[in-house]
Amino acid sequence: MVNLTIDNQKVTVPEGTTILNAAKTVGIDIPTLCYLKEINEVGDCRMCIVEVEGRKGFATSCIQTVEEGMVVHTHTPNVLEARHVILDLIISNHAKDCLTCTRSGNCELQALATKFNVLSVEFPGEMSKHKVDDLSPSIVRDFNKCILCRRCVAACKNVQKIGAIDCINRGFESCISTVGDHSLNDVNCTFCGQCIEACPTGALHEKETINDVWVKLKDPDTIVIVQTAPAVRVALGEEFGMPIGTNVAGKMVTALKRLGFDKVFDTNTGADFTIVEEANEFVERFKNNDNLPMITSCSPGWVKFIEMNYPDLLPHLSSCKSPHEMFGAVIKTYYAKKENIAPSKIYMVSVMPCIAKKFERQRPEMKEEDLYDVDNVITTRELARMLKQANIEFEKLEDSEFDSPMGEATGAGAIFGVTGGVMEAALRTAQDTLTGEDLPKIDFEQVRGTEGIKRANIEIAGKEISVVAASGLANAREILEEIKSGKANYQFVEIMACPGGCIMGGGQPIKSSKIQAEVDVKKLRGQALYSIDEKSKIRKSHENPVVRKIYEEYLEYPGSEIAEKLLHTTYTKREKYNIPM
Ligand code: SF4
Ligand code: SF4
Ligand code: SF4
Repeated sequence: MVNLTIDNQKVTVPEGTTILNAAKTVGIDIPTLCYLKEINEVGDCRMCIVEVEGRKGFATSCIQTVEEGMVVHTHTPNVLEARHVILDLIISNHAKDCLTCTRSGNCELQALATKFNVLSVEFPGEMSKHKVDDLSPSIVRDFNKCILCRRCVAACKNVQKIGAIDCINRGFESCISTVGDHSLNDVNCTFCGQCIEACPTGALHEKETINDVWVKLKDPDTIVIVQTAPAVRVALGEEFGMPIGTNVAGKMVTALKRLGFDKVFDTNTGADFTIVEEANEFVERFKNNDNLPMITSCSPGWVKFIEMNYPDLLPHLSSCKSPHEMFGAVIKTYYAKKENIAPSKIYMVSVMPCIAKKFERQRPEMKEEDLYDVDNVITTRELARMLKQANIEFEKLEDSEFDSPMGEATGAGAIFGVTGGVMEAALRTAQDTLTGEDLPKIDFEQVRGTEGIKRANIEIAGKEISVVAASGLANAREILEEIKSGKANYQFVEIMACPGGCIMGGGQPIKSSKIQAEVDVKKLRGQALYSIDEKSKIRKSHENPVVRKIYEEYLEYPGSEIAEKLLHTTYTKREKYNIPM
């Protein structure tokens, strides 16, 4: 242990602790900007500088480790002046568009400028000009608001191991861009959105599509139906100041009804369809030892990744569409017929924790007879913006139930939003299918938890199945390399593009670096989904009465011709770069 003094407070911390983290133990919050715990700890921006007695100059507290007897001061006049100058310099080359910026109110640069009382632009002069990249369906890059902190680069390169973006050029020309400075739409980006979650400013954000929803909600000739993914309900409350991991499903449904949606349905029901189809597909492949391991396909960032990087392994992907796409297909066929609505009059909106779903929605494979299964995807953040624009005091709302008959879901559908959840839900159905019994064992603890890779051998129907659940694309790559080299012999693989699964998707509420450092967001949101599962009356997808009824009346049986047509899809090799290289 090392003893030191920070701002006149005695501190004792383990050797190797940074000054920044040592200060936290005694309630001293040194400001940071480029720092992102365990992702970007490089000491570039110098916002976290402190003075150490007996030393010349400043120490960068996010990388400088403690030493015995050190005496540290975090807010001397010199430190305060230097921080002010750092902010002045950043702001001198920054588009000061707070009034029209999506991150206003949740921007770390704006918060620091307020905290350090930056009241004027000290160094006005020439500013670099960047073209806004809004060509992709998922992500917008506005580098006029970039502060070159490189948090996005670290998330893409180190966490996801994609490397779609990096710092290019030098000096005044420096910026974060792609190979050849092309649009993210044309390079090896998966649209996972982890760079957005890492960015402290408005330089990166989702392609917003809420105006289209407002227009449709006002159109008397359109039936506007909304569905909400499992992970949305355990994060939306955060945008209204509620604790991380609060389940706000009831309030969310009330709010969506107030916005004017004609029907509010639950994507968890769609997840139950996915599980029934996916478990059936797995059982068939397992019995015939065909194309094993089977790999899940519900995460569109992951699907784009494998299409670009491992096309030879595409036959291993489950052919199941993702839950919201399956649900959209069922709504525009079975439900439309039942309710006597022309499918072309339905406008299907999905509220998702994910920006890759915006890309997935417009894939040509996701349409039936010229109608897309889903017409618009908005993120959790966009829904919060809509509710604020509609002057809804979310925290004060009463709870409501999802609309029937398409709002009934099981606990298995809920855990789809967390890493290991799809695997667990599928195993519940697969074991009953293989044994022909209603087995009481439904918790598969081996695949729970927030670790990036969870391997297990699970016994079902007297047979041992080797499974692995991986989240985050760096982990996905590790598993695919194992499969490719023959090093591992898995039968069932679950992969989600975002570390922790959909709960940590690129469309979820953005947490500041301080919250990311101090709170296990992944764990809290994940626990909330497992709690929904535990409290559910029905916890196996194939026992969902709505799902059973729709198979009886329309889809016939899992894997039937019509189920294949509506609920399954195909994948194709995709070039990483749509540009001459
Ligand atoms: S990124 Fe932050 S400081 Fe810059 S315009 Fe947006 S809100 Fe304002
Ligand atoms: S969306 Fe994902 S893959 Fe694309 S640049 Fe951002 S982190 Fe990298
Ligand atoms: S885009 Fe955002 S995260 Fe990336 S360097 Fe710029 S400000 Fe930092």
